[in-house]
Amino acid sequence: MAQVAFIGLGNMGGPMAINLVKAGHQVKAFDLSLDALAVVKAEGADVAVSASDAVEGADFIISMLPASKHVLGLYLGEQGIAGSISKQALVIDCSTIDADSARTLGAGLAAQGIAFIDAPVSGGVGGAKAGTLTFIVGGDEAHFHRAKEVLQGMGKNTFHAGAIGAGQVAKICNNMLLSVLMVATSESLQMGIDNGLDPKVLSDIMLKSSGRNWTLELYNPCPGVLENVPSSNDYQGGFMVDLMAKDLGLALEAATQSQSSTPMGALARNLYVAHQRSGHGKLDFSSIFKSFERKA
Ligand code: NAD
Repeated sequence: MAQVAFIGLGNMGGPMAINLVKAGHQVKAFDLSLDALAVVKAEGADVAVSASDAVEGADFIISMLPASKHVLGLYLGEQGIAGSISKQALVIDCSTIDADSARTLGAGLAAQGIAFIDAPVSGGVGGAKAGTLTFIVGGDEAHFHRAKEVLQGMGKNTFHAGAIGAGQVAKICNNMLLSVLMVATSESLQMGIDNGLDPKVLSDIMLKSSGRNWTLELYNPCPGVLENVPSSNDYQGGFMVDLMAKDLGLALEAATQSQSSTPMGALARNLYVAHQRSGHGKLDFSSIFKSFERKA
């Protein structure tokens, strides 16, 4: 069993850290939020007084933070913790950030003799709680295999996408596709409703037809079609519009750099940013459905 430092105990990181405790690892956790720390403490994690305290003597350092600036600041900023990390440790950043920042972090840590992989996740808060996340790893093959000791405690699938940064590229490709599917599912369901169809009946029909997709089947955006999904809980919990808008921004930056044509991704980003600017940033991303409803 490993000694693990876990930094960032939000919607995703909290349940991930708790699953590591359940898997028998010794977890020392840190977050800027005392409430988040109290939750993992109640489940058996040790609580650190600072991020550098958390990483002291750790075999693995896992971070799950909102965005690139938090991740780069944590490790390489003025108060950065890179100097406190053991040279034998493996740093695993599971946040969704841009591939360039992941490469900058990898290089900065390598300059201090510390190994690093980027390992963003797919599976959402439900997957984090259930321990069924998919980890998409960028980095050395040997580090990928070493990381499995802890990743297996939090997820079901681990993929090696390529060199450092490749995990992030694969992740934003997936999220760009997910956003397009969510928008298309929402407008289709609303058009059915506008024409007198029951959204549950329409969903059942499309699930047996060629429009079947993940958002329709497992994350239906229309309230009342599925139980236990954010749309049936006032769009609370799940994956926030703010984070989807961030990921689509990362996707379009990557597309610009590689001169890729991504018209559907660009449209989805604009729809999500408009939805965010209408005050829906903290709702689950399936709330894009609301923007298609007739208001009057
Ligand atoms: P969140 O906002 O719920 O949690 C982030 C946590 O980081 C907060 O508790 C915050 O206090 C803490 N934090 C911020 N800066 C810190 C610092 N310097 N030191 C210590 N703690 C700090 O976000 P989340 O939903 O858990 O998402 C985390 C990452 O996972 C994001 O990059 C997101 O894009 C990605 N992600 C989220 C989901 C999802 O469904 N929520 C799914 C896949 C990937």
